[in-house]
Amino acid sequence: MKKIALLGSTGSVGKNTLEVVRQHRASFQIVALAAGSNIELLARQINEFQPELVSVGRPELVDELRQLTGSWRGEIVCGAEGLIQAASYPSANFVMTAIIGSIGVAPTLAAIKAGKTIGLANKETLVTAGHIVMETAKRHGTRIIPVDSEHSAIFQCLQGERRADVARIILTASGGSFRHLTRRELSHVTVDDALKHPNWNMGAKITVDSATMMNKGFEVIEARWLFDLAYDQIDCLLHYESVIHSMVEYKDGAVMAQLGTPDMKVPIQYALSYPQRMPLETEPLDLVRFGKLHFAEMDYERFPLLKLAYDCGRTGGTLPAVLNAANEVAVARFLRGEIPFLAIEQIVERVCAAHRVQADPDLEAILEADGWARREAENC
Ligand code: MG
Repeated sequence: MKKIALLGSTGSVGKNTLEVVRQHRASFQIVALAAGSNIELLARQINEFQPELVSVGRPELVDELRQLTGSWRGEIVCGAEGLIQAASYPSANFVMTAIIGSIGVAPTLAAIKAGKTIGLANKETLVTAGHIVMETAKRHGTRIIPVDSEHSAIFQCLQGERRADVARIILTASGGSFRHLTRRELSHVTVDDALKHPNWNMGAKITVDSATMMNKGFEVIEARWLFDLAYDQIDCLLHYESVIHSMVEYKDGAVMAQLGTPDMKVPIQYALSYPQRMPLETEPLDLVRFGKLHFAEMDYERFPLLKLAYDCGRTGGTLPAVLNAANEVAVARFLRGEIPFLAIEQIVERVCAAHRVQADPDLEAILEADGWARREAENC
């Protein structure tokens, strides 16, 4: 029985995880839930899944949540400390990290140290502190299973193969909600326009990150850490239908791809059931309906944040943490209507250029750089 602590239960990956659990009650059980401030949904989840522990974002939400959950008698904790309690909850053996942003670093490290298997859906954790997270996992013998659809695809294509035989990986990218617009046309786009992703139904932050291609940039850095690759071995390819979720090219020229209808429940369930597979109610892939699949070369001038992510990843040190933190703030400002879409790129570029990189940072140095970048990006 997988006993799951789910961090970020009210977000897109969180809700999909609960849907997977619903389909396999005999195999998966929720023992801890953590969410931010969406109390109504969290209360419904508690009433349905009856976890032992729940963490909410702020102390003032505890009473409200207690009132909404009637006869449920589990423990409620809160804040950053509550998140860590949920991540290291003793009866959990699997932690799904589906919260957004570098706030995921501390609970992920806590879960790794507590020996839980990690389903990693929080890419910002590896962008911010990849070397520390992977080293800690190695030291504690903890398995990290990717949930991001591209990385799950690569993980699946690597099964049974020798890592030394990999020539490169190819991350596919849909191009996001503005893929048909020129850079000039991008200056007028609105928040509503940005939130219409062509293939995936996701949260606001990642949908904007997809439109700027920052999301793919983070995925490049995430792949570097998850699969221990050099940046030269990681390529990106535009693929408009999101049917091929990513590919691995081996040194004999053979290319393995994982295909499917875009549905996050597939990589989520694979992380939970690995190394086995279980049935899943999802729309089967109908290639005849698609008829054609389309590809194009990635355009690093059209998507400068993707190029910047490669540069920041290669430089390393505190710079990827700064890239992530500046982007989190810039996207939040765009979503609040404070800045135009293209200012996201300008802010992130400016903050990264102004940062004095520290090589081989410890966690404290990373969090300091993260805080500095947030202040800079807020005032840019
Ligand atoms: Mg992805």
